[in-house]
Amino acid sequence: MRRGKTLFMVAVFLLTLVSLSYGKRIFVTIGTGGITGVYYPTGGAISKMVNEKFAEYGIKATVESTAGSVYNINSVLHGDLDFGICQSDRQYEAVHGLAEWKNKGPQKNLRSVFTIHPESITLIASVNSGIKSVSDLAGKRVNIGNPGSGQLQNSKDVLKAFGISLKDIHPEYVKAVEAPMLLQDGRIDAFFYTVGHPNGNIKEATSGRIKVRIVSIVGPNVVKLLKNHPYYAKAEILRKFYPMAVNTKNIETVGVKATLVTSKKEPANIVYAITKEVFENLSKFKKLHPAFAVLTKKNMLEGMSAPVHKGALRYYRESGLIKYIPKSLIK
Ligand code: GLU
Repeated sequence: MRRGKTLFMVAVFLLTLVSLSYGKRIFVTIGTGGITGVYYPTGGAISKMVNEKFAEYGIKATVESTAGSVYNINSVLHGDLDFGICQSDRQYEAVHGLAEWKNKGPQKNLRSVFTIHPESITLIASVNSGIKSVSDLAGKRVNIGNPGSGQLQNSKDVLKAFGISLKDIHPEYVKAVEAPMLLQDGRIDAFFYTVGHPNGNIKEATSGRIKVRIVSIVGPNVVKLLKNHPYYAKAEILRKFYPMAVNTKNIETVGVKATLVTSKKEPANIVYAITKEVFENLSKFKKLHPAFAVLTKKNMLEGMSAPVHKGALRYYRESGLIKYIPKSLIK
């Protein structure tokens, strides 16, 4: 009888412990991109940093594979995702109510946290398509990107800068994850993907039976493009990352940056914890993906357009990094 009572008490105690720890657990979701891109492992790397301190924060972060930048910004604003990774150019357009946000207007609740690796507008073409420059895309079957991705608008901007309209090509709108297979099957001639390097997607596209070229995006049209859009900059894709491509030199193109965003409504303690753990463990974080090699605490605060979230600001003040943040982003 006594034994039964003791067992009962132990069970009650254990149940209380379990419910207490569940009560404290905060689930956080980070929206990324296709699993062969760099956003997906980046979301994983950010999650790892904060999950390792579960005992301190009670945060359990997980990643979601999504359609990409535009989807992530909108989902963060709707409260469907806590955080999202997005291109610096899409962040700018959302804040200013341009491009995809032209009808909705400026997205006032968008908040930036920090910026991450550089991404390049990457144009991949089969050698037998004869495509050696953007101008050669006329008349070809080109995947310009899925709705919700960052690359969709980048492809349109590049084509426009070269005087090519969507009517001049046969556009496809499929996810980047499917593009290498379509190219290798000869069902498309080329595809655009705005992505960090190296990545599994371009490795897959360049290592099949069909020979593939990474096409440079250069010339006077690009000068015009850079002039018209403040967030585009010259960039280079290192040939050594893709030894199976037919390129013999590094590839000149146009680039942006990956950034982490959230909503104004996200609790400050969560944003603080994520920011702090990534910055305080930056050398460990950088080992998680080769695209992170160039990251410094300073350059991770460059390229933001949305006001910085107050939870992140708390860490930047504490650590003295606040000096790198433009005054206009501190609200
Ligand atoms: N830049 C792409 C996008 O915004 C995603 C790239 C990646 O997943 O690494 O959709």
